[in-house]
Amino acid sequence: MAKTYHIITIGCAMNQSDSERLASRLNELGWCRVSDCHRADLVVLVTCGVRQSAEDRIYGLINQIKKANPKTAIAITGCLVYRQDIKTKLQDKVIYWFSINELGRLEQILPCYNPDNIKPIKDYLEIMPDYKSRVSTFVPIGNGCNNFCSYCVVPYARGREIYRPAQDIIVEVQQLLNKGYQEITIIAQNVNSYKDELNGLDFTGLLEKLDSLGDYWLRFATSHPKDMSDRLINFLGQSHNLIHHLHLPVQSGSNKILKAMNRNYTAEYYRTLINKVRQQWPDIILTTDIIVGFPGETDKDFADTIQLVKDLKFDQVYVARYSPRPGTLAAKMADDVPAQVKKKREQQLNQMVIAGALKNRQAQIGQRVMVLLEEQRGDCYFGHTDHGLQILVTTPEKKSYTLGLRYFAQITSARSFSLAGQLL
Ligand code: SAH
Ligand code: SF4
Repeated sequence: MAKTYHIITIGCAMNQSDSERLASRLNELGWCRVSDCHRADLVVLVTCGVRQSAEDRIYGLINQIKKANPKTAIAITGCLVYRQDIKTKLQDKVIYWFSINELGRLEQILPCYNPDNIKPIKDYLEIMPDYKSRVSTFVPIGNGCNNFCSYCVVPYARGREIYRPAQDIIVEVQQLLNKGYQEITIIAQNVNSYKDELNGLDFTGLLEKLDSLGDYWLRFATSHPKDMSDRLINFLGQSHNLIHHLHLPVQSGSNKILKAMNRNYTAEYYRTLINKVRQQWPDIILTTDIIVGFPGETDKDFADTIQLVKDLKFDQVYVARYSPRPGTLAAKMADDVPAQVKKKREQQLNQMVIAGALKNRQAQIGQRVMVLLEEQRGDCYFGHTDHGLQILVTTPEKKSYTLGLRYFAQITSARSFSLAGQLL
C-alpha cells in the first residue's frame, strides 16, 4: 500500500519552489501527501543553512516529530545535506539524505510504489511542480552561485550556477498564465546573472520575452548589484508587467567590510545604481539585506551602514546578525563582534527602518493601487499591491469581488510595512 508523506520547508523562495518539485516527484513515486506531519510515514525537511538560526530549527523539529510518532521516517534535503558534521549528529534520527539535484533519481533513494510510471530526468528543474498556489507562484530560472561572498554557504550547498534554457522558462510561464495565474516571480540565487548562451540571451533578454506573454505581474529575486546593467535598469522603466519592487541586497555600507565580504562593489557604486533605478521607476519599493557584526566591523563601519540606510530610504531591510558558516572563507576569520553588539546594531537598524518605512507608506495615502486578492475575512480581503506591499481592503456595499483576481483600490491608511484601503 502507498505510504504518506509531509514536507516541511525552511528558508528562502528557492526552497519553497524546490518543495513543489519534490512533492510532484514523490507523487509520481506513488507516495500520498498528508497535511498533518504526525500522520505521515515520511517527513521530508527541506533545510536552510544560510544562518545558524535556520540550522538550529531542524534539531527541535526532528525531536518533536519523533516524540509524536517514533515510527515516522525522516529525510533531509536542501542546504544542510553537504554538512558531514550534521549527518553524524543526526545519524540515529534521519534515514534518508539527498541533495535537491538528486530529485531526478529519487526512485533509487526512497521506496517507490509506482516503478512502471517513472520517467528518467536529467535535471531536477525539468520536473513539473505541484504548485501550492493557484494564483501566484515562483518559477526558478537557475540554481547555484559563483560569487563566493566570504560569509555565504550557498555556493557550497547548491554548487555552481546553472541556468535553464529560456524556451523551457517561457513554456512554464505561458502554461501558468493559461491556467489563470496572476503573478509569477522568477527566482535564482543570483537571478540577474542569468544567461542562455545557446540563444545569446541575457537576463534582460529573458525579461523582455516574459514581459510580452500576457497581462500579469512579473517579479524577480534575488538580484546582485554587480549584475544590475544599464540595459536592465533601462528595461525596468519600459516593461508592462514588472511590479515596481526591487530587492537588492547591499549587505554593508562600509567599503572595508564589502571588500572583506567579497561583494565586488563599493557603497558609492550601490548608491549610483539606486539613483539610476529611481530615475526609471520613481515610485519603486526598495528592499535590501544587511548583515551586522561581520568580522572586523567597527563602530565606524556600522556608522557607514546607518548613513547609507538613512540616505537611500529603504522600504524594508532584512537585517541578519552574522553567524560563521562552516567551510566559508569568513569562518576562518575571528568572529570578533560580541553577540551583544550584534544585537544592538540589529535593533538600531530595525528601529530606523520602521520609522523611515512609515513615512514612505504615509506618503501613499490617497493613491490608487492595484491589489491581488489572496484571502477573505468577513467583508475584508487581504492581498498585495502592484508594488508588492501587503494590504487589507474593505469593500463598498453591493459589489462582489473574486479571490485570486486583481482590482483597483484607494489607500486610506498606512503602517510601516502594510497598507489599508478600500476597493473601488
Ligand atoms: N543571493 C543573495 C542572498 C542569499 S542568502 C545575495 O546575493 O545577497 C540571503 C541572505 O542571508 C543574505 O543576503 C545575507 O544577508 C544573509 N546571510 C547569508 N549568510 C549569512 C551569514 N553567514 N550570517 C548572517 N547572515 C547571512
Ligand atoms: Fe551567497 Fe553571495 Fe551567492 Fe548571494 S551572491 S548566494 S550572498 S555567495
